[in-house]
Amino acid sequence: MAQQTELTIAGTTVRLVQGDITKQDTDAVVNAANPDLAPGGGVAGAIHRAGGASLTTACREIRRREGPLATGEAVITAGGNLPAPWVIHTVGPVWHGGKGGEAELLARCYRSCLALACERGLGSVTFPSLSTGAYGYPVELAAPVALRAVASFLREDSGHLKEVRFVLFSGRDLALYAQALSAL
Ligand code: ADP
Repeated sequence: MAQQTELTIAGTTVRLVQGDITKQDTDAVVNAANPDLAPGGGVAGAIHRAGGASLTTACREIRRREGPLATGEAVITAGGNLPAPWVIHTVGPVWHGGKGGEAELLARCYRSCLALACERGLGSVTFPSLSTGAYGYPVELAAPVALRAVASFLREDSGHLKEVRFVLFSGRDLALYAQALSAL
C-alpha cells in the first residue's frame, strides 16, 4: 500500500521524509533537547556536532540565565553551521508507561515549537520524532500524538508556516508516521 507522506492543512504542507535532522534546509530544525540543553546523544548530539561551538555556547548561556528547560517548553537559538538558520530546542517527556501525562506533554512540545516558529515569522520547520529515542516513548503511540498536535495547531493559526516537516531516521518510523498522517 502506498504511504501517505504529505497533507496540506490550512495552507501548510505537512511532509514526512526519511533522513537526518542535521541535513534539513528548513528555516528551523527542532532539537530533542535535555533540560540542561547539553549536547548528549541522539538528535541533540548530532545537532550540537553539526551546529558547532556557537550553538553549544548559546545553549549554555540560556541554561545559565534561565535554568533547566521544563518538559514541553521551547527556546530558540541560531543554527551555527547547520543548513537551518534556527534551532528550536524542546524537552520531550520521558516515557513512564503512559499514565504520567506523557501524551499531553508531548503534544505541548509540538505546540510550543510551532508557536515559537510563528512568533519569529518562520516559514518552515523540521521536527524529529521527539521522545522516541532515549526517552523511550513508543513510536507507534507518539506518531499520532505528534501529528494531531501539529494539525490542531495549524487549524487554529498557522502564521507564515508553509511547511512542517518530520524527518524520521528509520523506514519503520516513517511508515508509522505515514499511518498516523493518513488517520488524521
Ligand atoms: P529523545 O531523547 O527525545 O527520545 P533521541 O534523540 O534519543 O530523543 O531520539 C529521538 C528520535 O530521533 C529517535 O527515533 C532517533 O532514532 C531519532 N534520531 C536520532 N538521531 C537522529 C538524526 N540525526 N536525525 C533524525 N533523527 C534522529
